[in-house]
Amino acid sequence: MENLLSRRARSHQASRIRELLLLTEQPHMMSLAGGLPAPEGVPIDLIRSAFDRAIGHIGATGSTALQYAPTEGVAALREQVAEEHAVRVEDVLITTGSQQALDLLARILCDPDDVIVAEDPSYLGALQAFRFAGAEVVGVPGDADGIDVDGVEAALAAAGPRAKAVYVVSNFHNPSGSVLSAQRRVRLVELAEAYGVVIIEDDPYGEIRFAGDRLAPLGAAGRPVVRLGSSSKVLAPGLRVGWMSGPAPIIGAAVRAKQAADLHTSSLNQLIVAEARADRAAFGAHLDTAREIYRLRAAALAAALRAELGDHVSFADPSGGMFLWCTVPTVSSTERLLEIALDKGVAFVPGSAFAVSPGSDVDHASAMRLSYATLDPAGLAQAASRLAAAVRTMEG
Ligand code: PMP
Repeated sequence: MENLLSRRARSHQASRIRELLLLTEQPHMMSLAGGLPAPEGVPIDLIRSAFDRAIGHIGATGSTALQYAPTEGVAALREQVAEEHAVRVEDVLITTGSQQALDLLARILCDPDDVIVAEDPSYLGALQAFRFAGAEVVGVPGDADGIDVDGVEAALAAAGPRAKAVYVVSNFHNPSGSVLSAQRRVRLVELAEAYGVVIIEDDPYGEIRFAGDRLAPLGAAGRPVVRLGSSSKVLAPGLRVGWMSGPAPIIGAAVRAKQAADLHTSSLNQLIVAEARADRAAFGAHLDTAREIYRLRAAALAAALRAELGDHVSFADPSGGMFLWCTVPTVSSTERLLEIALDKGVAFVPGSAFAVSPGSDVDHASAMRLSYATLDPAGLAQAASRLAAAVRTMEG
């Protein structure tokens, strides 16, 4: 049956890392691998009462929550996003998770071999969506302040008319944890204007800031920026509700592509998200709780890593989000380390999984992404201790 698959499908085989990570589902395994929100941070009562109100929306065609909806999304949620993003309602599209926004953008922007410039390392799901659309992803390194803007300019100049977009995760990058600095935000928008490309500003983690001050987004009305948001990290990923706003021609093309993909995102789930966020007092209190959970977990993981591994590891303390990017200079392959770690009952994602050009010099082979979102502080301490045992075994 392989011969029936399109060239595109055949060129996207399952990765070895993905196969290894299937082992994380074993019951004894402690996972620092997935980005699953803390179970304690998923507000079941808030969602249940939002559901009750959502199901009660009755329009001309019966229950709005149970009827077909416009591809663009249900009005209540689009209006909320428009207000938050300071754009017109017409410039908002509700998507099935922000993952769908990435997929739609890749398909409407890129012909085969067109270029998307992205921070290296990058969010794996974005790389997959871009590559599946046939785009060439050009990696530019980043640091604690996000992607290197001079590197972006060089990449845009080199790609010429093939360049279509620059992809950034502006807050608490997945996997690096970096926050794009205010200066670089301004400069990136200037570069997008100068080179005639669009910025894809992916921001699912911005609301989970537990230290420092919020920075203004890149995206706003009139700018060449498509801004992506999601309910996955702050409400529940199982709802699969995300959104994008941006320039009218891009949103219009994305609406047409979405029509072909799934007609629209679940009306019921859109209304649940709209109702949950509209209850500002309850949603605000929930956000405070969630931020505190992640703050404590980030601190617990950082402290346990320092206690267990000391100088063997280097990382920056997260100020938000769910990930800690950890380098182990004495380990030349964290893929190999993962095999040992799985034997010891702990999982993480090796840095190479996020490499824009796997196998190149920049393959992040000594790095790993550790998620502190899912385990509680005691679990994180135990997971760090298992990880330290794996590092010691590998160092021999
Ligand atoms: N962007 C980034 C940076 C992510 O980390 C994720 C989820 N891991 C997504 C997009 C997709 O999230 P969702 O589709 O659940 O909104």
